[in-house]
Amino acid sequence: MVPKPAQYILRFDDLCPTVSQRRWQRLQSLIEEFGIRPILGIIPDNRNPTLDISEPDPQFWERMRTLEARGATIAVHGYQHRSESPEGGFLSLHKRSEFAGVPEATQRKWIHLGLEILRSHGLNPRLWIAPRHGFDWATLDALCAEGITALSDGFARVPIMRGGVTWIPQQLWEPMEKSKGLWTICIHPNTAANDLIEELREFLRQHAAQFTSVDRVLAEFDATHVTLTELMCERMELWRTQFVRYRKQRALKQRALKQRALRQRAMQEQGLQAKQ
Ligand SMILES: [Zn+2]
Repeated sequence: MVPKPAQYILRFDDLCPTVSQRRWQRLQSLIEEFGIRPILGIIPDNRNPTLDISEPDPQFWERMRTLEARGATIAVHGYQHRSESPEGGFLSLHKRSEFAGVPEATQRKWIHLGLEILRSHGLNPRLWIAPRHGFDWATLDALCAEGITALSDGFARVPIMRGGVTWIPQQLWEPMEKSKGLWTICIHPNTAANDLIEELREFLRQHAAQFTSVDRVLAEFDATHVTLTELMCERMELWRTQFVRYRKQRALKQRALKQRALRQRAMQEQGLQAKQ
């Protein structure tokens, strides 16, 4: 059943020893202040240089262990967070991804290695988060084979079961009031601007009691019972998100083209003036 009033889960992505320490400390203090039990999406072996923001934090793994002991859920966020596959997977929110389109044996090997790395740091990963939302049927089979039976993704308003895996929906990238449903708000600490962090603080101040955890969700919802209406709502929300993203990307591209044209014109004018 769709919960009313709405419930929220907070999720943090791209955590690794080189995550922006300044921003992460601010976000971690919110977790502590409001007693939130978030999802921590940890990259086991980050090889994506754009995510190397701070110097490696020697305390990183200890911090993650402490948060897990206080009720956070550890999610394995891909393996190396590369995007070398030209496929976007089920949700097609990005053109490239780490896992979608990769042979199942390779996906399973990466998931296995990722889980081993997190476990070697004393963590107990129980959830999967695909980098760039890119995963496919082979990922679901590989996850089941590795004993991971839940993931955070998709656009339903309740958890649903697909390919033997429970999909806990993740539909928001900023705080947003909703009247009903289960909503996961995904925050990327490396790029979270001050405004977003303040907005999140205010949202938590008003809605902390509505924040739930993966443990509670798995205990309270029966993911195998999903109505046709819910599946239609999921499809509509996915289309809406794809459309919004497409419009944003198109606007960014147009702005870049306009700026390039302005720069070229300025250079031409400078050249003409120099000749005169
Ligand atoms: Zn990521």
